[in-house]
Amino acid sequence: MSSIPESYSEVRSKVATACDLASRPVDSVELVVVSKTWPADTLREVIDCGHRTFGENRLQEVEVKAPALPTSLNWHFIGQLQKNKVRKVLNHCDTIHSVDSLALAERIDSIAGELGVFPKIYLQVNAAEEASKAGFTPEQLEAELDTLLNLKRIEILGLMAIPPSRKDPEEARPDFRTLRELRDRLESTTGVPLPGLSMGMSHDYEIAIAEGSTTVRVGSSIFGKRRAWQSKSATD
Ligand SMILES: *Cc1c(COP(=O)(O)O)cnc(C)c1O
Repeated sequence: MSSIPESYSEVRSKVATACDLASRPVDSVELVVVSKTWPADTLREVIDCGHRTFGENRLQEVEVKAPALPTSLNWHFIGQLQKNKVRKVLNHCDTIHSVDSLALAERIDSIAGELGVFPKIYLQVNAAEEASKAGFTPEQLEAELDTLLNLKRIEILGLMAIPPSRKDPEEARPDFRTLRELRDRLESTTGVPLPGLSMGMSHDYEIAIAEGSTTVRVGSSIFGKRRAWQSKSATD
């Protein structure tokens, strides 16, 4: 089995190769290392490779890890976010990938005003309308995008999706393409650029890059199979 630094550098080089194949510059794709369930000491192995951007899906874990690690890190929130946790999430995270409703976006906008911050967000899309997943339907986005764009505290980077999990990563290609085409359509109807596409995880990030991903969220390819989070502080 490879060490974490070896796996990290392998993912880095696969990202670079996928960018090359798509005739895109390597720095056109951001790697968010998804560190959920792993303790701060494990993250240090990736930080020591020069990495700075981590994705977490639970407030409780961010609150334990962020204070234990260098303040120069960027924390991205990638999990379902309840409105009553927005304030605490914004204390640590500068980017939220999982904004799944207008009401949540409005809440983030208003708390950001109180805190004096300008968070970056992705609008999560549930294009397949899977009951188990959060997100805007394409129709909702089309109807609500103007209102979302009027929220002045949040910077909408673009769209995010978690396509249904597939055995063969190649099968996710149409899902990624659907998200890109939705983005293109929204850009042309609003005239507002939505450059970001947060799509692609461990088993399919190379396909996602071929289809235009600008942000891949990769966890288990770097750290291995996840275990249960062991928290010393029992609040959430
Ligand atoms: C866990 C998670 C990931 C990373 O998944 P891996 O398959 O381990 O790379 C990416 N995005 C979200 C939203 C996640 O919850």
